[in-house]
Amino acid sequence: MVWDKLPELVEKVRAGEVSAVSLVQQSIDKAKESEDYHALLEINNQALEQAKSIDERIAKGEKDGALLGIPFVAKDNFLTHHTKTTAASKLLDNFQAPYQATAIEKLEAEGAIMIGKANLDEFAHGSSTENSAYGPTKNPHDKSRVPGGSSGGSAAAVALGIVPFALGTDTGGSIRLPASFCGVVGYKPTYGLVSRYGVIAMASSTDVIGPITRNVSDSGYLLDILAGQDPLDSTTIEREKSYQSKAHNLKGLKVGIVSEHMGEGVDSSVKASIQSAIDKLKEAGAEIVEIDMELNELALAAYYVIAPAEISSNLARYDGVKYGVSAENAGDLLETYLKFRGEGFGEEPIRRILTGTFVLSSGYQDAYYKQAQKVRTQITEEYARAFEKVDVLIGPTAPTPPFKLGEKQDPLSMYLSDSMTIATNLAGLPAISLPVATDDLPVGLHLQGAQRTDKKLLDIAMSVEDLL
Ligand code: GLN
Repeated sequence: MVWDKLPELVEKVRAGEVSAVSLVQQSIDKAKESEDYHALLEINNQALEQAKSIDERIAKGEKDGALLGIPFVAKDNFLTHHTKTTAASKLLDNFQAPYQATAIEKLEAEGAIMIGKANLDEFAHGSSTENSAYGPTKNPHDKSRVPGGSSGGSAAAVALGIVPFALGTDTGGSIRLPASFCGVVGYKPTYGLVSRYGVIAMASSTDVIGPITRNVSDSGYLLDILAGQDPLDSTTIEREKSYQSKAHNLKGLKVGIVSEHMGEGVDSSVKASIQSAIDKLKEAGAEIVEIDMELNELALAAYYVIAPAEISSNLARYDGVKYGVSAENAGDLLETYLKFRGEGFGEEPIRRILTGTFVLSSGYQDAYYKQAQKVRTQITEEYARAFEKVDVLIGPTAPTPPFKLGEKQDPLSMYLSDSMTIATNLAGLPAISLPVATDDLPVGLHLQGAQRTDKKLLDIAMSVEDLL
């Protein structure tokens, strides 16, 4: 069975047409069948038991729950009870979390069942999932290519049909880029809208969590469950009443095209697919305006100062004493630190810890960190000016289609994959990537909205999805 839309699937479970056990079994079978793609790091061996108890509840007439019996996977940087949580790092090889992320709790409270943990770039540092200490995930559309990153396992699991939805995290594009590369929908909420309690922190001033789904309305349906203030995460903000998507009129909609995102350095096949989507929007009566966003171009440079600074602080807690594998045969405390961190962290986290420590060090802080924060403010202001003129900004999610495994060896060329998504995170905006029609490899259309306009953005995205 192909996965229906979530509310329809839940209706079938509620009506007794399908059981939770059969859905979970289907997910597990599909996961085993697609092992070659390495989308998952671990299968939850309690999942069938959990499904059984849901079926027993249904038999007794207890049929509440917006996700009754629905299987899903979570990126392996969400703390979960029934599996390990490794963040795809050797350093947390055996880490069993003592509590669960709020997002997982909320989904489970609605009857959803987590069938496994998805692969990612180590500590979510990357754009291809090749930085996983457990080996890369492969693109469901072409095994010789990457699925994008860092939530590559989550996006691949949805594209492969293992589950109807997955959870990911997005610090600079990590939900949207893999969604684009795998041909599925990836949604990044406004900063603070979804609690991050129990999610391994990367860069705390831009980290958000969000769903990866088969269609836009499922993203809205899930946001409705996930959004809202959490006393355990003081950065959470007030939610809107409902996020269940409704069609939005495209006639008269003011759509901004970021000129810089359709110019140099963008692959011609990507440009052609996005241009044809823009043409369709125009035919549907949308008003298309070109917008220059020169400061957007500085986002990558600012991000690679700010994010490493926060990463170096967040990763300081992994000292071999409290978390993860302890360094064996180390001598004194300093030796323990050196051995544990030196052997546990992969190359990319180490690069970021070093950069982050450097940009925060005395004498350099003003030149790098403070400067980057000023650029960040200007980027946010540039967006605010744009949203005075348009309802939504659109363009490609990534400058290229999925690239080959091993193709991007130097870090800078990898970083450039995020050139269209990173500014969104610096400004804390909501954004979504939708697949557009192509003859070949998947291409994602990126829609960005003003802060806290998640509902409107999802409504627009649903209408754009229908149109395309
Ligand atoms: N690819 C970006 C990075 O490597 C973003 C990662 C993310 O969003 N988690 O930092």
